[in-house]
Amino acid sequence: MTEFRTSPGMRDILDPESGRWRRFVSAFEHTVEPAGYRQIIPPLLEDIGVFQRVGEATDVVTKEMYDFVDKGERHVALRPEQTASVCRAFVQHRPVTPWKAWYSGPNFRYEKPQRGRFRQFDQVGIEVLGATDPFLDVEVIALGWNFLAGLGLRRLTLQINSLGEPVHFTSNLEALSAESRITLTKNPLRVLDSKRDEDHAIIASAPRIADFYSDQARTHFASVRDGLERLGIPFVVNERLVRGLDYYRHTTFEYVGGTLDSALGGGGRYDGLVEDLGGPPTPGIGFAIGVDRTLLACDDEGVFGAPPTSVQVFVIDTTGGAEALVLTDELRRSGISADRAFESRSMKSQMKAADRSGAAVALIIGSDELASGTVVVRPLRGGEQVSVSRAEVLPTLQKVLT
Ligand code: AMP
Repeated sequence: MTEFRTSPGMRDILDPESGRWRRFVSAFEHTVEPAGYRQIIPPLLEDIGVFQRVGEATDVVTKEMYDFVDKGERHVALRPEQTASVCRAFVQHRPVTPWKAWYSGPNFRYEKPQRGRFRQFDQVGIEVLGATDPFLDVEVIALGWNFLAGLGLRRLTLQINSLGEPVHFTSNLEALSAESRITLTKNPLRVLDSKRDEDHAIIASAPRIADFYSDQARTHFASVRDGLERLGIPFVVNERLVRGLDYYRHTTFEYVGGTLDSALGGGGRYDGLVEDLGGPPTPGIGFAIGVDRTLLACDDEGVFGAPPTSVQVFVIDTTGGAEALVLTDELRRSGISADRAFESRSMKSQMKAADRSGAAVALIIGSDELASGTVVVRPLRGGEQVSVSRAEVLPTLQKVLT
């Protein structure tokens, strides 16, 4: 028989990593909810057009999408990212602006699997739709920074850039060559992102984007830098930072950390995206942080480890198991975490299981206890054991466990 395994680039997240994962998302929630962001849970699957609109020059969209035609002849795709889904949801539901949303969940990209790169990977992120205020950019950047710093990461840098606006070219579209029109729609700035050797010299001699900023783009970016300085958030301006997806304008940023020296997350302003998805002109800004990669960075720095997993009480029953059944149920109903052994194992083997469970206390019921209606309460990390009546078990535990 075939022993099935996960597909390439896909993983099972088991305990204790799954507990850490949960705590990660919870820490994110506790960073953004108090700032007025509310959760959105978009579907994993969308009409492929939702993603095609946003990345015609992006491998993420052109080469890496998990897309297929469903039984109703719809061409759909597993989402490669969630910003487009959030904007599609905005167009569909028209919430009051500014609309502040946060999300967490998996995305799918058919990439070559390697350390920190998977085909199913999770992101947490926020998006704000309906405001152009540069101090909103600062709020968004700061929330991501505070979250990552709050995990304990110290080798963290923030890179920012402004891409200005494509107005100069788009307002002269008619005059441009056919070739340039195509290049323009396919995002010329992406060339700046090339890591290929032969492109280096050409990129180095490229005109600076900053020389082409409109006045508005220039003051917007100045306000963003000023805001970050007011908050004491260190940053470097990286004029080559254009980000992987096509839709960015003005502010772009990346949080870089860990020994991978790759981005843990990033984002930017995407003032044309909602319109591209059929909505009214609506500015937007957000970021996505990779859960997998950020947890690897935490490993590298030895911070934000897995939380200890243990129960408080382990019930040992050598009389057949029915006593343990009732007692564990009673404990759990009163809010005490409890586990037990099954298969009527020996006293010795149940004691071992109790040790492994990390429980602070064992409750022991043997034939003597069954006959006298008592239970032995044995602290497993120092302290005297006592024998109490069934009615006294809960009050005794409440004392022992505090
Ligand atoms: P992007 O959506 O491409 O801007 O990526 C944002 C973040 O998501 C990255 O900085 C990574 O942390 C994470 N990420 C993107 N692609 C992958 C992948 N294939 N595997 C793991 N994490 C990824």
